[in-house]
Amino acid sequence: MRQNIVAGNWKMNKNLEEGLELAKELNDILKANKPNCKVVIGTPFIHLSKVAEIVDKELIGVSAQNCADKVSGAYTGEVSASMVKSTGVDYVILGHSERRSYYGETNEILKEKVDLALANDLTPIFCIGEVLEEREAEKHFEVVKSQIEEGLFHLSAETFGKIVLAYEPVWAIGTGKTASPEQAQEIHAFIRKTVAEKYGKEVADNTSILYGGSCKPSNAKELFANADVDGGLIGGAALKAEDFVGIISAF
Ligand code: PEP
Repeated sequence: MRQNIVAGNWKMNKNLEEGLELAKELNDILKANKPNCKVVIGTPFIHLSKVAEIVDKELIGVSAQNCADKVSGAYTGEVSASMVKSTGVDYVILGHSERRSYYGETNEILKEKVDLALANDLTPIFCIGEVLEEREAEKHFEVVKSQIEEGLFHLSAETFGKIVLAYEPVWAIGTGKTASPEQAQEIHAFIRKTVAEKYGKEVADNTSILYGGSCKPSNAKELFANADVDGGLIGGAALKAEDFVGIISAF
């Protein structure tokens, strides 16, 4: 069956020293109090190898927040999927709305990144979600459907089974506005149905679909209680061990 997952996305926060401190603090707390879900932290590239070294692998998975859409070569400033893997981590967040909107990542580019991540044995946490105008125009279903179709539906059923999905309504990211539990359940169920139509019920039932967007200790429980919400992708509240653990404890 699918895993419940709470994944943190540190974005461009924490220098190396601060990041290691946070990872260590989190590791110590979870060691003393075993989580009832999979926990992942998504750090900046420069933290990956050291964070992977200091956390207990059974307690915390480590994730990059991006990887290149090319294998290797003259792409100044880029970090390839194989480089990410060589740091000892197992996950990569792909298609975050900030990457899509600030860095022009299209579904076509993301498709390449997904393939390279999988080829390098990284689990993609693939983000989808609509902007406010699309929600207001009731286009959110078609938007997430096309993001999934164009970014992921070239995969075989077996390979799709390795993907974690994160539904993140862009209007809820870092805004303090959260999707209501009903809104989250409605679209998560739609996403699962979309996966089932392509790959069958078994694959869909085994796919973890996380919610992201201003999730915090005070609202995590009611969001995660929904049948099709299998955890969260957490931004701001992942930057303090106490808040992040408060969300993890919702399971
Ligand atoms: C995110 O960036 O993935 C996110 C969900 O951010 P926040 O929790 O801060 O809204």
